[in-house]
Amino acid sequence: MQWLIDPSTSSKISRAILEEVKELAKQFQNKFQRIPAFMEVCGSHTMALARTGVKKALQDYIRLISGPGCPVCVTDQAAIDGMISLTHGDDRIICTFGDMMRVPGSYGTLMQAKSEGKDIRVVYSPIDAVRIAEQNQQKEVVFLGIGFETTIPILAAALKEAEENEVHNFSIWMSTKLTEPILRYLLNNKEVVLDGFLVPGHVSMVMGRKHFEFIAKEYHLPGVISGFEAVELLSSLRRLLMMTLEQNALVINDYQNVVSDEGNKYAKYWMNHYFSLCDESWRGIGIIAQSGMNIREEYRHFDAKEKFSIPMRSPRKTKCRCGEVIRGLIEPPECVLFGKACTPLNPIGPCMVSSEGSCAAYYQYMRED
Ligand code: SF4
Repeated sequence: MQWLIDPSTSSKISRAILEEVKELAKQFQNKFQRIPAFMEVCGSHTMALARTGVKKALQDYIRLISGPGCPVCVTDQAAIDGMISLTHGDDRIICTFGDMMRVPGSYGTLMQAKSEGKDIRVVYSPIDAVRIAEQNQQKEVVFLGIGFETTIPILAAALKEAEENEVHNFSIWMSTKLTEPILRYLLNNKEVVLDGFLVPGHVSMVMGRKHFEFIAKEYHLPGVISGFEAVELLSSLRRLLMMTLEQNALVINDYQNVVSDEGNKYAKYWMNHYFSLCDESWRGIGIIAQSGMNIREEYRHFDAKEKFSIPMRSPRKTKCRCGEVIRGLIEPPECVLFGKACTPLNPIGPCMVSSEGSCAAYYQYMRED
């Protein structure tokens, strides 16, 4: 059996908490005649729960549902196709995080475009893309801005850098998403029964614990902000179970060495300085009002969508069910393509490509041989 791998703490502690969690889950089952269902909202939590063996160890006790927290996975097909079309001009260099390279568009991938000679570069930060723009002033340099509240402040830092250094050939193709609107969407639509949330650790680091209090105050469900090691995940699940058993709804910070009540005020200031709320389209869902951020009017000269006119084609339909996976409606093996036509080497949808995707996590750590 794959067992709890926890490099930072004793696996003995993890095993002890695991037994407590199982006991609390049994109490829940006795009380409510069903197993508890918690959603992890963050793609890094999805991967950590699978990698550490926590999800597998608890599969008969707790339904751990992967939510819409992988930025590549929630980006809709039309947006992915637009980004790939952007590479077609010869006057430009496209910069991106590595995860995007193999995401299937309707008519190819960034990797294929690169193999056809397009100048596409993987960078670790959008600020690297600003540097590339400074060194290549005869070209337009576009960074593909995909991400949640953890990425948006870094995009702001890149715009600040470009503005201060008067880098006019740099722009961002914005496709950012916000956590609160998608959680409200899920909670209002009640497509899945949920008893609480593992609240994302990294987004909370920026936005703060209080940002997520609406889960308890308005929807009367508990939430625990969790770290990413086995012992931290198990501790957070224990706290979630205790609150559900006591029918006590609070949003608790179980990641206190990283997350504060108010979050990172500096990061939030710069996010709001360069960006304002906009409607965004989510894979498998459609447009959710005010669920993303776009470049403010006064900085639109950094907006790639304003600089380049990209003809948008209708996305090609496939049997990929990523839209249902990210809403927690199905588990990856319920997709007929999982592990057959769709594997990490031959991905059909983004959830199999991304390092935070549910299908990739399931394929790598949960699949029965
Ligand atoms: Fe999409 Fe592949 Fe996941 Fe199916 S297994 S939902 S095709 S990524």
